[in-house]
Amino acid sequence: MIQDFVYSKANTVKEALDLLEKHRDDYKIICGGQSLLILMRQGLVAPANLIDIKGIDELKYIKFKSKEGLKIGAGTTHSEIQKSSPIKKHYPVLIEMEENLASVQTRNWGTIGGNLSHADPAGDPGPVLIALNATVKIANRERERTIPLEEFFIDYFETVLEEGELLLEVQLPVVTPRTATVYEKFNIIKNDQGIVSVAASVTLDSRGSTCTDARIVLGAAASIPLRARKAEKLLIGQKLDDSLLEKIGKKASDEADPVADIHASEEYRRYLVKALTKRMVKKAWERVKAQAR
Ligand SMILES: Cc1cc2nc3c(=O)[nH]c(=O)nc-3n(C[C@H](O)[C@H](O)[C@H](O)COP(=O)(O)OP(=O)(O)OC[C@H]3O[C@@H](n4cnc5c(N)ncnc54)[C@H](O)[C@@H]3O)c2cc1C
Repeated sequence: MIQDFVYSKANTVKEALDLLEKHRDDYKIICGGQSLLILMRQGLVAPANLIDIKGIDELKYIKFKSKEGLKIGAGTTHSEIQKSSPIKKHYPVLIEMEENLASVQTRNWGTIGGNLSHADPAGDPGPVLIALNATVKIANRERERTIPLEEFFIDYFETVLEEGELLLEVQLPVVTPRTATVYEKFNIIKNDQGIVSVAASVTLDSRGSTCTDARIVLGAAASIPLRARKAEKLLIGQKLDDSLLEKIGKKASDEADPVADIHASEEYRRYLVKALTKRMVKKAWERVKAQAR
């Protein structure tokens, strides 16, 4: 049963920040409620104050500029991202990710800001956005700060958000030429959260033969979306062949720090990390080559 709470609705970012400050000691922000209400129903979270930001229009936008990149307001729904033309053109991996995230009902109501702030290590947007080099804008009443998304997550369901702070925006830089980013999750039930997921971003040189940059990000394989930095290092400066691919997969699997739960054992998750990393690196590499043709 959900415990009693005082409900306040903010219509602007300023109103929301004032409310967060006023109820500093005991509040929860609610946006789409897709994650929060489950925790409240289970009695895992019982805030005295619930501050509703779903009605803040200032937080609902997708803006793309060819020199600056993409900005997505925290209140933008998964469906809005999935249907965005500039995202389809410049960041297609986000569309592919959203198409496989939850059900249409959850995508229609759940938001990108809520997903990231919930900080479920099995969440889909985290690994993909980190592979795309995302930053996030955060504010309280006094100041705004922008940090790499990679530094936003600190533990299971924990972020760097302090009391009084609101996540405002997700920002993506312009994609470097000859780069492709891909993402896949392994699950038993379609559109369920992944038992493990991997995002890989690969940049090739002008001849399309050598990797000049790479980002490999693991989902549901640690307490946060995890960069497999040692695996990335193996790839950068190299030409891809089966033997290198095998080493990269093995390294990513060693870097993972998965738990055992009802979905999978630790060993099985490591096995999946290896298989998916190999598959994603190869797929990204082939996509860059296909773009060049
Ligand atoms: C049936 C089901 C299936 C799902 N499947 C998937 C899946 O396959 N992949 C996946 O990634 N996710 C999945 N989800 C999770 C879903 O994506 C998230 O629940 C949704 O995006 C959360 O957004 P929300 O606006 O509903 O957040 P809320 O539930 O309102 O909030 C979630 C958390 O974020 C905080 N918060 C919200 N907005 C902000 C903000 N702007 N600033 C600071 N804090 C904020 C809240 O206080 C709360 O702690 C699933 C959820 C359901 C119910």
